[in-house]
Amino acid sequence: MADCGCDSHQQSLKPFDEALSFLLAQAKPITDTETLPLEKALGRVLAVPVHSQVDVPPWDNSAMDGYAINTRDLVKLESLRVAQRIPAGAAGSELQSGTAARIFTGAPVPPGADAVVMQEVCTVEGDQVSVTQPSVPGANIRRAGEDILQGEEILKAGTRLSPHHLGLAASVGVPTLTVYRPLRVAVFSSGDELVMPGGELGPGQIYNSNQFTLGGLVKRMGCEVIQLGMVEDTLEATCEALKRGAKSADLILASGGVSVGEEDHVKPAVEQLGSLDLWKVAIRPGKPIAFGQVDGTPFFGAPGNPVSLFTTFTIFARPFILRLQGMEEGYMPMAFKAIAAFEKAGTDKRREYARAKMEMDEQGRAVVKLYANRSSGVLSSVAWANGLAVLPAMTAISQGDTIEFIPFSELMT
Ligand code: AMP
Ligand code: MG
Repeated sequence: MADCGCDSHQQSLKPFDEALSFLLAQAKPITDTETLPLEKALGRVLAVPVHSQVDVPPWDNSAMDGYAINTRDLVKLESLRVAQRIPAGAAGSELQSGTAARIFTGAPVPPGADAVVMQEVCTVEGDQVSVTQPSVPGANIRRAGEDILQGEEILKAGTRLSPHHLGLAASVGVPTLTVYRPLRVAVFSSGDELVMPGGELGPGQIYNSNQFTLGGLVKRMGCEVIQLGMVEDTLEATCEALKRGAKSADLILASGGVSVGEEDHVKPAVEQLGSLDLWKVAIRPGKPIAFGQVDGTPFFGAPGNPVSLFTTFTIFARPFILRLQGMEEGYMPMAFKAIAAFEKAGTDKRREYARAKMEMDEQGRAVVKLYANRSSGVLSSVAWANGLAVLPAMTAISQGDTIEFIPFSELMT
């Protein structure tokens, strides 16, 4: 693991961007690939680009239900004889002068026709059609190759596959895609106070919520979750969990125990088995975060406070995981401009990622409210929110100011 140039004992806060750049620079994307049928490739990252074998559409076709005509005939004639019928899936014959072809959306425009007139502007009597509005060459015709040209790259390597990407591959006749294998992520929660839901709480005990938040976040990203469960607050148990994770996974994620108190064993355990950088990052909530490796397997440790865990995962670990999965672009969440419906003093040295709710006001503007309780233990605030508001360090915010807002859709997919 490269040296981040930080001294883990120093109390100074590491700037967020510096910590994230360091983390991303350490990301070694997986290289194993597999070739899957389209329906199995959803959510995977494409390893080999896709080029089109065909023009799409393959021929000029009608954009409307109507009549294929030659516009020159409209100048000379009051009406045209409907000489052929071309539904989608059929091919017409050469359009003879003075005739029209009944045509339907998607059907090939017959040779000799230069426009399609929609049926709404036509009057039909027997086998004669008259066109009640002028038409121009090219009207309502979708040209061959206007979507995709043969040989064109339609999907880049490094694309995380959404439904429309699968549709695009299918539209050029490609039945399989070569993708990276799923990332295996080992997850554990450390803390002697933890009890699984369904169990009885003894004195000083709390339910283990992080296992579900973290496991769900990782699973949603298309990773294979290796659940190592709860780990007691001892050096031995922590080392054991780390070893199991390193053996079975591409990445180890841990919640809790990353501070430097005598009940926090993650730091010494990772240092014993590999190497560790522990940072006090200048964000709220979330300092500290731990990053390192065990037997060459990267390790990311987040604080146990449920909101800190959520925030550090979504803003630090998620882009890192997307890079490991092979994604080459678009792995950073997008922030959107919105209007603050709150105030904040400009005295905080740390950038805050505050649980926030964006709503539309009567004028259709995006307005952002904050959850009243900013404590990092209040997980109900995340359930209330639909995103995170980015509140820069040492910056006062007044009602009506423009701020940045990251919707959960950018943080949880
Ligand atoms: P730690 O980071 O281990 O010092 O924990 C910080 C706070 O988060 C403590 O109040 C813990 O009880 C709480 N916590 C730690 N792990 C979990 C967990 N898995 N689920 C819910 N709360 C937790
Ligand atoms: Mg603890």
